[in-house]
Amino acid sequence: MSRPPFPFSALVGQADLALALLLNAVSPAVGGVLVRGEKGTAKSTAVRGLSRLLPEIQIVDSCPFNCDPWALDPDCPAGTHPLGAPRRRRPAPLVELPVGASTDRVAGSLDLERALTEGRRGFEPGLLAAAHRGILYVDEVNLLGDHLVDLLLDAAALGVNYVEREGVSVRHAARFLLVGTMNPEEGELRPQLLDRFGVTVEVRGNADPAERVEVIRRRLAYEADPDGFAAAWAAPDAALTERIVAARRRLPGVRLDDGLLERIAAVCAAFAVDGLRGDIVTAKAALALAAWEGRDAVTLADVRRAALLALPHRRRRGPMDAPGLDEDELDRILRQAGALQRTLARLDEHRVRLQRFRPAAQQDRVCAAQAERGRLGRHAACERQPLQLHAQLDAAARGDVASVGGEPVAQVDHRADARRGKRAPLAQARPRPEVALDELGRLALAALEEQPPGL
Ligand SMILES: [Zn+2]
Repeated sequence: MSRPPFPFSALVGQADLALALLLNAVSPAVGGVLVRGEKGTAKSTAVRGLSRLLPEIQIVDSCPFNCDPWALDPDCPAGTHPLGAPRRRRPAPLVELPVGASTDRVAGSLDLERALTEGRRGFEPGLLAAAHRGILYVDEVNLLGDHLVDLLLDAAALGVNYVEREGVSVRHAARFLLVGTMNPEEGELRPQLLDRFGVTVEVRGNADPAERVEVIRRRLAYEADPDGFAAAWAAPDAALTERIVAARRRLPGVRLDDGLLERIAAVCAAFAVDGLRGDIVTAKAALALAAWEGRDAVTLADVRRAALLALPHRRRRGPMDAPGLDEDELDRILRQAGALQRTLARLDEHRVRLQRFRPAAQQDRVCAAQAERGRLGRHAACERQPLQLHAQLDAAARGDVASVGGEPVAQVDHRADARRGKRAPLAQARPRPEVALDELGRLALAALEEQPPGL
């Protein structure tokens, strides 16, 4: 019996790494994790620890493709499993891609001769089959051949492994959590490949001396007695497993409202993220985070945290720009987007009111002309629609539209002035809606760009 892996809950620090892995465990749709960092930063330890947290899976007993007895894969190369086929439970698989693995080893190999007589049974499963419903761990993914990385990322994205040789093709389900690690000092991944990892985490050694001491203390305890150490941490690990299960159950019901979606879009646009993958992954990670925290709705804080995981590797940047995402910049953008939303919402309210008000504004011209001639109160418009007109003027006088465009709006009590027989300065007091709205929108945008209002 090999020694148990270092327990996930016994990791010290590395909060980003732990969270990225857990969110993917909750929602594989987040799309995998790329862990960047030097050697000796607990990358492999965390992944192996995570594999022990994943809930057990139930498989068709005889199937080397980890078929789910409750959702049979009609394409399974092991043949069509009968309903009610014997099944068994097993731990979620953790497959580590060995350095120098061949395409056949990864994707599986098709024995053409056997395939001709036995059909898809002539297919030998590869590592993608073995990783189905578990984790596929690729250490030093940046040193892997491009074709192999493409193969992994395609399978991870589609959830299907597709192999074709000389006109014979086989496919099988291959849904796994892809975790890649890389040491950036040994070379970067192509940007197209970077973009296909859902989230990235930058890991560094623990800087806090107290944390470092704790890391060493736990490592020594683990090495002295792996089983005893694992047993001591079994309860916190089990609690994490329960939390994953609960979050998975909660996830489909979690809400992400339009206002937050707009903020995600604003952040992606501001950081010049190409395409839409950044927006989508941020949304999915935020949903997973809300579920993980036991909430039914995504909050702004979830969006912020998700963006920090999903966008650093997607933002367009010059060769001299620092990697990662500037948190102050992110906060500024989120605040601006929120302020803009509130401004636009207010504009919408005003637009509705102004539309109601517009006929009155038109009539005001008649009103004003009449007032000039000192015949206020007896002109045709007021006599024709006195109630409607006065209701609209009242709304204006109450100040409902008083703030539009910084223009004074209907501050004058039309009827009071009319009763007093005074000449009201109606022409100056009335809004000019046809100018005000577009102009106001432009001013609001300009103001936001120059001076972000605080939240
Ligand atoms: Zn099967």
